[in-house]
Amino acid sequence: MIEFKPYRKLSPSILGVDCKRKLVLLSLGRSTPVAEKLQRIFDVGTKLESVVVDWLVKDGWDVWYPASDRNVDFELQIGNGYLRGKIDFLKIMNDDVGRLYDVKVVNLNNFEKLEQHDGGLLFHYLIQGNLYVWALQQLDINQLTKGKCIAIDKKKWGLVVMSREKCEYKVLEFEYDESLIQNQLDTMEEVFQVNDIDSFLEIDEREQSKCKWCPFESICLETEFLRKEGK
Ligand code: SF4
Repeated sequence: MIEFKPYRKLSPSILGVDCKRKLVLLSLGRSTPVAEKLQRIFDVGTKLESVVVDWLVKDGWDVWYPASDRNVDFELQIGNGYLRGKIDFLKIMNDDVGRLYDVKVVNLNNFEKLEQHDGGLLFHYLIQGNLYVWALQQLDINQLTKGKCIAIDKKKWGLVVMSREKCEYKVLEFEYDESLIQNQLDTMEEVFQVNDIDSFLEIDEREQSKCKWCPFESICLETEFLRKEGK
């Protein structure tokens, strides 16, 4: 019998989610319909990313900002799957070292919280940013940026946070924190090994309050979905 191995992938932007079962679903490419209003918010955020980069360039930043329509910048094998990512942009420092920045277009409430380094949203972004810096260190950055920068900054990275309401941006910078990486690599290895989601987490897990708001609830209840799809 030929063993069928699904292609599994996760992106740094979703590794901070609070449920490993959800990560299994996402790693297999399962998705749920996104409400039209929410999709519009995502679309505006994507378009505004290049606007923010334009403002930074006008304010004197030297950046490597590849075409926004590309699909992916890297794919690194982790266990039975891949960490797959697309970076926002690099700021080119004086010594031709690129510092990673991630653009976040948020509402005023989150803009103020992030400015004060407050809340769970920031923790989510810290996992994402540190994982991107780790991933970029595994790549030939000179080749990726076609000579625009020769190395990646291993000390710092940043967020450029834009408020939709105020049309203002703030730059937040963080020390690269390697201590956040190993946990994420272990989680990915664990998630990429799962063939039977119900042996991975007991069904009672879904009684937790977080499940009430989870968009995956209906898929999650298909207890044998992996076997049903021949996976
Ligand atoms: S319904 Fe609950 S257990 Fe299932 S993916 Fe969502 S949060 Fe996780």
